[in-house]
Amino acid sequence: MQLKKLVWHIFPANLAVTLCSLLAILWYSSTALDQFHSKWTETALQNRAYLIEEQIALLVAKDRKKELNTFCRRIGRKSSTRITVINPSGTVIADSDENPEKLGDHSNRPEIKSAISGKIGTNLRFSSSLGVKMLYVAIPLPGPSAADKNEKFHVLRVSMPASAIEQTLRDLRVKVAISGIIVALLAMLAAIIISKRISKPLEEMTRRAEQFARENFSSPLAVTSDCSLEVGTLVNAMNSMAFKLQERIDTIVNQRNELQTILASMAEAIMVIDNDKHVTTINASACRLLKIPAEKAIGRSTQAILRNIDIERLVDTTLAGPEAVAEEISMVKGAKKIFLQYSGVRLLDSNGHQFGAVVVLNDVTHIRRLENVRREFVANVSHELMTPLTSIKGYTETILDTDPNDREQTRKFLEIILRQSNRLQAIVNDLLELSRIEKEIEYNEIHPVPTRVRSILDEALQVCSLKAAEKEMTIRLNCPTELMAPMDGQLMEQAIVNLLVNAIKYSNPSSKVEIRVGLRTAKNHGEMVEISVQDYGVGIGQEHLPFLFDRFYRSDKDRSRKLGGTGLGLAIVKHIVQAHQGRVEVESEVGHGSVFTIFIPATQLPG
Ligand code: ADP
Repeated sequence: MQLKKLVWHIFPANLAVTLCSLLAILWYSSTALDQFHSKWTETALQNRAYLIEEQIALLVAKDRKKELNTFCRRIGRKSSTRITVINPSGTVIADSDENPEKLGDHSNRPEIKSAISGKIGTNLRFSSSLGVKMLYVAIPLPGPSAADKNEKFHVLRVSMPASAIEQTLRDLRVKVAISGIIVALLAMLAAIIISKRISKPLEEMTRRAEQFARENFSSPLAVTSDCSLEVGTLVNAMNSMAFKLQERIDTIVNQRNELQTILASMAEAIMVIDNDKHVTTINASACRLLKIPAEKAIGRSTQAILRNIDIERLVDTTLAGPEAVAEEISMVKGAKKIFLQYSGVRLLDSNGHQFGAVVVLNDVTHIRRLENVRREFVANVSHELMTPLTSIKGYTETILDTDPNDREQTRKFLEIILRQSNRLQAIVNDLLELSRIEKEIEYNEIHPVPTRVRSILDEALQVCSLKAAEKEMTIRLNCPTELMAPMDGQLMEQAIVNLLVNAIKYSNPSSKVEIRVGLRTAKNHGEMVEISVQDYGVGIGQEHLPFLFDRFYRSDKDRSRKLGGTGLGLAIVKHIVQAHQGRVEVESEVGHGSVFTIFIPATQLPG
């Protein structure tokens, strides 16, 4: 709809009212003037008649027609009035303008009729003799006896052309019309000025209201001196509304930012959906989990982006019932199976109407995996402990059943019990060591400091020298004396000892072990210190290599048990190296020996 400006609402109405009142005034004044002027002219003519009435009556009474005619002509000329004298039978006996003999019977003229019967008669009509419109006033001339009611009078008629009266009236009308037009123009001007004055602050308010709509509340409206009370009140109300709106918007924006930051920083995948299951909000974790960018997820149905019947069922249950829904489900993501903890709750508006739901998906795969690892670990530990424990229990029972005097047998059994106890102790020690290192890594308690690598290796050699000597093995060390690396000395010594013990353990007597140390520049890791421990022993099958650093993994169970291995040595090595932000690798060939290599950064890494 095309809306008009305020000025076009006020101006035409104002103009119409002005014009109507002007026309009414014009009509009324013109009619009143007309009447007034006619009356006034009539009275004037009548008075003129009365002024000459007596002289005329005298001349008529004396029947001095010639003199009467001359008198009429003279007075008529002087007063610009036509004077006519008519006898009671209607015949003109004198006339100021025409020859009376040429004028016919006047008894039928309305003014003459009245005057003959004794009453003043007036009439406005076209004069056939003069060819112009005339105003006639006829008075009866006083007769000899006024008592006779049927007496017919001589008539004195004075007249003047109506054109003169009409001209005067026309002039008057023109003057009234001109002043009317001037008044109308002034009224129109006043209407324009008033409408402008009213509309100007309104236009300013409209402009500001449009700015408010664009959320721009920066410049408040000013109440100027030419503002009316109503406009001033409206301006103040608008300014206070703008202030309150700004406050509300600020609060909403802050709350929205807060909410977005919370949503973005949450590890849980969160989606807000409407009643039709279309996504309205999705956080970064959900985008990552579903591998979909937020702009593609918004507006799409959960079915299209989740493609999982279990979640779809839970979403339906959430939207259907008042209860919050929580359930663990699994889904296939790529080639992997993942576990998700689903939590869903309905969203209600201020009137208690449901407008959607919040769906939270928590990836609990890691927790489930950890639980699995723990379960396996407990099973492994129990299994590892069970073997020596069963042995200890069995031999103890056997001793109890054996003849106490059979000392040799008893001693043999006790030696077995001692060996199994040592094994038990070794397992427990290694487990404690492993959990200590894990705890230190978890609580960031390991602080590598620049240490001479050579000194650590010397210490480790010292620890293993007895074992090496027992098997008549030689250990060769090739390490630059001044080479430094950030290390936790005690832990790194432990890792090297574990590797050396294994190298000695899984080698034939009189064999040799070599320790080589060097610097290597790795592509993405900077400069690394490389410590390799090589033996020429039994070696390890390729199929075992990927699992070698797992807890309780043994490539050769019998041999390991026989040699008192716990299956935890390499797991400890792996953890220590990881605590140094390094890695450990193994190369091996059955029958030819193995090389275990530790890589740790040559300089302190940030963080
Ligand atoms: P263990 O206490 O049984 O030696 P580790 O964790 O130290 O446990 O080693 C795991 C397994 O790896 C051992 O059981 C052994 O089979 C194999 N292994 C480790 N080091 C060597 C090596 N130098 N030569 C051959 N096999 C080895």
